[in-house]
Amino acid sequence: MTDIALTESLAQARERLHQALQKAGRPLNDATLLAVSKTKPAALIRQAWELGQREFGENYLQEALEKQVVLADLDDIVWHFIGPLQSNKTRSVAEHFDWMHSVDRLKIAKRLSEQRPPRLAPLNICLQVNISREASKSGVMPEDVMGLAREIAQLPHLCLRGLMAIPAPAKTLEAQREPLAALKQLLTSLQAALPQAPLDTLSMGMSDDLEAAVLEGATLVRLGTAIFGARGAA
Ligand SMILES: *Cc1c(COP(=O)(O)O)cnc(C)c1O
Repeated sequence: MTDIALTESLAQARERLHQALQKAGRPLNDATLLAVSKTKPAALIRQAWELGQREFGENYLQEALEKQVVLADLDDIVWHFIGPLQSNKTRSVAEHFDWMHSVDRLKIAKRLSEQRPPRLAPLNICLQVNISREASKSGVMPEDVMGLAREIAQLPHLCLRGLMAIPAPAKTLEAQREPLAALKQLLTSLQAALPQAPLDTLSMGMSDDLEAAVLEGATLVRLGTAIFGARGAA
């Protein structure tokens, strides 16, 4: 991808988010663009940073750590881990990320809290919910979210911020909205049950369902392809 192409696609992504927010009757600063940079080189992340992008999402730990070394001079960059994580890999996330979106069991959360260096702010956490109830997908089942959230809210070095989901693909806007509305509903019940937790985050909306997600209240939209182009393409 050339500099010009990234300049254009990032501007288009921002415009798309603004239009979606406007259509939803929400303020233009009501949702944040998370640039999903998995499989993309550090140089491209740096270019996006130079264009003002600050939040980046990575799925593969080893790859992310290597890019973080190269980009260590970008001191206000915000790193989000959004991929599946084995429990023996928690330490690197606790030490090197600002956010973790894919927590779906207590064991992982406990380890992240224990391993979070005290000099760093608490690690921001989203619970990943298997909102479409797919057998093959990770994520906590909707009926188990409340119990897990109550336990995680007690952990000292974590800050429970909200919920994340990757719904099953759907063709129409209406069909896309259904699971996203269910996730929003779950967050609303969590907010009522845990008033002391800063539950302000709905991490939902990708390149194919951004508009539906913004209509349903997404606050952090995760765009990969729309910003950096297809993965695996030159
Ligand atoms: C890859 C990925 C994205 C970005 O997907 P696009 O369709 O390329 O926008 C968002 N969230 C998660 C969890 C991902 O793994």
